[in-house]
Amino acid sequence: MKIILASANKGKIREIKEYCSYDVLAYSDVVEPFDIIEDGDTFKENALIKARAIYEKLKDSGEHFIILADDSGISVPALNNEPGIYSARYAGEGVSDKDNLYKLIDELKKHNITKTAAFYTAAMAMITDKGEEFTVHGWMYGDVIAEARGDKGFGYDPMFIPEGYHDTLGELDSDVKEALSHRSRALKLTKTILESLA
Ligand code: IMP
Repeated sequence: MKIILASANKGKIREIKEYCSYDVLAYSDVVEPFDIIEDGDTFKENALIKARAIYEKLKDSGEHFIILADDSGISVPALNNEPGIYSARYAGEGVSDKDNLYKLIDELKKHNITKTAAFYTAAMAMITDKGEEFTVHGWMYGDVIAEARGDKGFGYDPMFIPEGYHDTLGELDSDVKEALSHRSRALKLTKTILESLA
């Protein structure tokens, strides 16, 4: 059984390899990379869109595989749940993680917010070679602050303080994030499903 990831992100591939004992491949190792338009309204829909696009390319290959796709982001209820599914392109197309981080800090400042509730979401979609679909979610709750502190983690981590802590994920040890994160939680559920399919 091969797990085919709908991502070329090396960090994600490594994280998933650590979580399961199967062969884990990037989809670009088995088909020519192509653009996938993520136009869903939810994290779950976007994860399914990615998984289905790759399933269409592989469904007649005769191979045994499970496609795994994820979509994630941060939502701030005081900003109408922004940036949500637009987390990766909040400051525009082709921008850096830093641009997105400072755009969210600016939005908080515009609303005179120094600290407010926020949560990360990770949705994961799996499709088997028989076309069966499964989805799981993981969440991490906490607050965002209108400043960046620390340089650990990535993305919005320097402004995110997990529930029960005073430091941001930019300042906290990576073990803390691993124990709490939306992605770790979704991956645990993913692993349960993968084991039941093996
Ligand atoms: P994806 O790769 O399409 O799922 O986009 C994820 C977006 O959400 C990126 O902009 C990330 O910066 C942000 N994001 C998702 N998970 C995390 C996290 O664990 N820390 C910081 N930012 C994250």
